[in-house]
Amino acid sequence: MTRILARWPGMASFLQTHATRCTGLSFRNGQTSEPAGFMKFHEQIMSDLDAEFLVIQHDDLRRQLHSLCLDAGVVFKQGKAVDIFKSEDKMTVALEDGEILRGDIVVGADGHNSFVRSLVMDEGTKPENTVSGVNISIPTEVIHKHEEFRSLCNENQFTIWMGSGSSITGTRDVCLVPTNLPGERLQLQNKTKTFSLSICSSTRLDSGDGDMYESHDLSYLSPFDLSEYDPRLQKLIQLGRGCRPTIHEVFEQEDLVGLNGSIVLIGDAAHSRADPWNSQFVDGNAVTLGTLFSHLSDRKEISVFTETYEELRQRRTNETRISEYQSLVQISLPRGESLQEERDAALQLTLDPAFDDFENCESSELLVHVWEQYLVVFSHDAGEAVDNWWSKWGFTLRQ
Ligand SMILES: Cc1cc2nc3c(=O)[nH]c(=O)nc-3n(C[C@H](O)[C@H](O)[C@H](O)COP(=O)(O)OP(=O)(O)OC[C@H]3O[C@@H](n4cnc5c(N)ncnc54)[C@H](O)[C@@H]3O)c2cc1C
Repeated sequence: MTRILARWPGMASFLQTHATRCTGLSFRNGQTSEPAGFMKFHEQIMSDLDAEFLVIQHDDLRRQLHSLCLDAGVVFKQGKAVDIFKSEDKMTVALEDGEILRGDIVVGADGHNSFVRSLVMDEGTKPENTVSGVNISIPTEVIHKHEEFRSLCNENQFTIWMGSGSSITGTRDVCLVPTNLPGERLQLQNKTKTFSLSICSSTRLDSGDGDMYESHDLSYLSPFDLSEYDPRLQKLIQLGRGCRPTIHEVFEQEDLVGLNGSIVLIGDAAHSRADPWNSQFVDGNAVTLGTLFSHLSDRKEISVFTETYEELRQRRTNETRISEYQSLVQISLPRGESLQEERDAALQLTLDPAFDDFENCESSELLVHVWEQYLVVFSHDAGEAVDNWWSKWGFTLRQ
């Protein structure tokens, strides 16, 4: 995702000043918080990938992207879409207030509860796996009052506490406080820092009445059994002022395009992943669609481009769906099982001062496999995939 973002105007410098760079994945024993392994993001690997592992506040990124769109001339209209239909070869979207919008295609980017999805996908598709997550944000100034937590906030690492049947990840980020907001233009002055924790478990959370993705109090955590985690970590969680639950359903990617190419799904509307880095797939979708349409020279080509979008994204998401889920399973293996002991023994190798990197690690195939699972997720270049397709097939459209 950072590779995609850095190519957009002004984004490389924005990320440099607003995001926190992670130096590696720090694995810890969930019960004790003792270091269990460390996957360093070696300069060489990250520069080969042409990407950084960055942490940034969702709202900061959203504001910056909004500002970029305004600069590019995108027109934003407020309103809730309530009906979509085709009339006289045009797509029509009816808004709740009665306004009617017309265009050649409808891009359904309306998130996890997508209304557009029902027009494209079979809603009866059963997920292969379901993962529940809860995100908790804690101001570091609160944490700093407690000596026992300080080391967690001073490190620019993505920490993974490996539990039995669940896992908790944590990282600090920089929260930029807007002091004066004329329109949507961002002006940043004060800075505070937050520490974000994310609990991931196969325990099914019940959405109850309200919207699950909204902020809730910590009682929402009660279905999770956290009693075996390091008591300091349990205490740290209780310092959160609230939490945001999420449900990730993993299913084989089906249709992304409907009505003969007139409706396209992107982002969370298109799929819900099992990994905490879902927005990289959101960006991948957007870049694929945008790069394909940059080649458009006639309206008749629209259906070819939307079909190609579906084909490229289905291939990519189905390729990574299993490996992402496996990465989550690896960090929450039940205690005492041989797989868990094998994993811990392999990770332990990375703590040896003589340990260099994964490519040269002949002593553990498991370790190389784990690292490859991360690389599969990080290494894909959605723009390059379209360029490859275009150089192979583009000429057929121009004959
Ligand atoms: C608590 C939480 C933590 C997360 N943490 C991470 C993380 O650390 N890293 C990461 O990469 N990803 C993370 N994600 C996932 C990431 O936020 C999503 O993948 C991403 O926001 C999806 O973008 P989107 O544009 O597809 O959908 P959204 O961001 O959900 O946007 C959809 C938009 O459509 C609008 N909409 C909905 N229905 C209609 C309608 N009928 N008419 C008009 N508009 C409509 C909504 O109001 C919303 O503005 C997290 C998600 C949550 C909830």
